[in-house]
Amino acid sequence: MQIKKGDCLISSKPFAYVLSSKHKDNRCDHCFRSGKLLKCSGCHYVYYCDRNCQKESWKIHKAECANLKRILPRIVPDAARLLARIIIKLQQGGGEEKEYYSKNSYRRFKDLMSHYTSLKNDQKRMEHFVSLCQILEEFMGSSQLPNSAEILGLYGRICVNSYNILDSDMNSIGVGIYLGPSVIDHSCKPNAIAVFEGTTIIIRALEDIPRLDWSQIHISYIDVLNTTTTRRAELESTYYFVCNCERCKESETFATAATCSSCPSQCDIKEDSCLNCGQKISTSFKEKFKEISEFTASHLENMKNVAYLDISKICLSKQKGVFHPLNIQYIRTMESAFDAAVNLGYWEDAQSFGIDLLPGYLHYYGEFHPLTGILYLMLGKIQLHLEKAKPALEMLNKAEKIIKITHGDNHSLFRDNLRPLLCQAMMESQH
Ligand SMILES: [Zn+2]
Ligand SMILES: [Zn+2]
Ligand SMILES: [Zn+2]
Ligand SMILES: [Zn+2]
Repeated sequence: MQIKKGDCLISSKPFAYVLSSKHKDNRCDHCFRSGKLLKCSGCHYVYYCDRNCQKESWKIHKAECANLKRILPRIVPDAARLLARIIIKLQQGGGEEKEYYSKNSYRRFKDLMSHYTSLKNDQKRMEHFVSLCQILEEFMGSSQLPNSAEILGLYGRICVNSYNILDSDMNSIGVGIYLGPSVIDHSCKPNAIAVFEGTTIIIRALEDIPRLDWSQIHISYIDVLNTTTTRRAELESTYYFVCNCERCKESETFATAATCSSCPSQCDIKEDSCLNCGQKISTSFKEKFKEISEFTASHLENMKNVAYLDISKICLSKQKGVFHPLNIQYIRTMESAFDAAVNLGYWEDAQSFGIDLLPGYLHYYGEFHPLTGILYLMLGKIQLHLEKAKPALEMLNKAEKIIKITHGDNHSLFRDNLRPLLCQAMMESQH
């Protein structure tokens, strides 16, 4: 059966999952919704929407409720809580649970790859594992735990198979293991995408695909707005494979490019002259490029959690005329300027940074990507704030075209975020 762009390939409830502890006070521990919440009277740790969510969650929560309370005010790290939940679930017979990803093929938890050998040679992860085991012992009591080789097998499966569960802005709010979707391989140029509705994962086709052959369907495990070197290093250290996808084999024209001083073309700073117009690249320009690149890298690192408008602007002004507009550092800086301006409610600034961000998103993520769709949506929203209804409507129409494919018109992002903005923009642009 032919698959059309935007078709849902599989949707799946998690085998095991946890809400990130950062969100424990503002989201339901069961369904991840935010809003009015009630505290669990047992542990005073987790919150639920209502009795229903609490009841649904009790099967797994009853085994952790007293333990969560006992170790308060300390908080169990997300990875330890997920590991504990998997141990409990397997003790409850969860090992038998199967998820079919095609008519005759299914996966159980034990079918997930654990990369046991790679893991044992991975010093950083083994250190993490040892510390997790100590926490688990304290959290659950050693009599509840399988032997450490078994726990290492579980830990390995978590490391290479877990998905970050994302909210509608694509921010991580939790982590989950999904049996069926674990069959999907990675590509830096994917033809499918994972989005979430609550804790349910939905894998959707980004292109027309001749038929459902899972070996031909790829999602990206990582953020593709990175250089090939960075992507490959991340894939190797997190998932233990060397990526040889189409994009990894292509040469990178723009990712670390400078801009030519006499034509609009990109320049490779390692060359002696512009390959387009022949303009010589001076040693002083090369030094300046290197210096700005290091300056930007250190500030982007510092702004990992909070973006600052003034710092972003300083970086951008230094980059002007030196970095090519598709240089990834430039795009990342523009992104932090955009985020900061949005957070401050500086709509004029936000609008101009957002518009400058579009070419980079279209180049690296492509048009049909949730982040591109959400950027158009935000730009539309910003322009409505600025009472520019006509351009806002154009942005929102673009967002609609993309989000219909990436999320579908049944998704809450479409229904609750996009549609009301579209209505508003249509009404206001008629005046
Ligand atoms: Zn709930
Ligand atoms: Zn509780
Ligand atoms: Zn790749
Ligand atoms: Zn040139």
